[in-house]
Amino acid sequence: MSIKFCSLSSGSSGNCQYIETDNTRILIDAGFSGKKIEELLSSIDVKANTIDAIFVTHEHVDHTLGVGVFSRRYDIPIYANSNTWVGMTPIIKNIKEKNTKIFKTNYALDFNDLSILPISVSHDALDPVGYIIYYKKIKISVITDTGWINDNIRNEIKNSNLYFMESNHDIKMLREGSYPWHLKKRIMSTRGHLSNDAAGEILGDVLSGNGEIVVLAHLSQDNNLPELAYNTVRDGILSQGLDVDKDIRLNLSHRDKATCVYILE
Ligand SMILES: [Zn+2]
Ligand SMILES: [Zn+2]
Repeated sequence: MSIKFCSLSSGSSGNCQYIETDNTRILIDAGFSGKKIEELLSSIDVKANTIDAIFVTHEHVDHTLGVGVFSRRYDIPIYANSNTWVGMTPIIKNIKEKNTKIFKTNYALDFNDLSILPISVSHDALDPVGYIIYYKKIKISVITDTGWINDNIRNEIKNSNLYFMESNHDIKMLREGSYPWHLKKRIMSTRGHLSNDAAGEILGDVLSGNGEIVVLAHLSQDNNLPELAYNTVRDGILSQGLDVDKDIRLNLSHRDKATCVYILE
């Protein structure tokens, strides 16, 4: 009895995460074309028609582009809160009533053998959430697209076995880069995206050093570099007294390909 996690792709050009247990297969977000998601799934030997549900974090197109196509093609239910449904309907178009599933943010729901808590995050969307997924004694936290992590999120994600945590940008690269000022301001705001420094600080705070897996997520193509994200977060964790090489497993996700499939048991 195990739970598997794989980031099929993560970043501003598309997001899709895959979670599997013995009885359940879900996607968190589907921000690519239907065809691309099928390809990403087949790269880890999963057939698209075996997916049981898609859980959506927020309406931005890098999280929702393929949600509607996928639901119609494979008759898959979509789970989101009501404001996200309002925001994403123009993108995902008509969905069968039986596949329109509405949950309440900050209330856990059961889905097959999973318990899933959609937790409120801080981002410029209508009602964005991260997901905390419980399977038996195992806990996975998926927190991206948030400009701020408050104490409630810190408390809820503590004791996860796997953290899929946004590490979007290097502050200096963003400040000195080519983005227009309004976009820089948006990304740096508390309703934008988490910097490498912020990710390092938060992870240093919540990790306990018992072999947890950390996968850094939603890295910016223009305002970050994989090594820079890795090293900055590593320094942040080290400064809290944990040995990154011994106490935890720090990994990166990719913008255009799947990570390994992490198996937790
Ligand atoms: Zn995004
Ligand atoms: Zn977003």
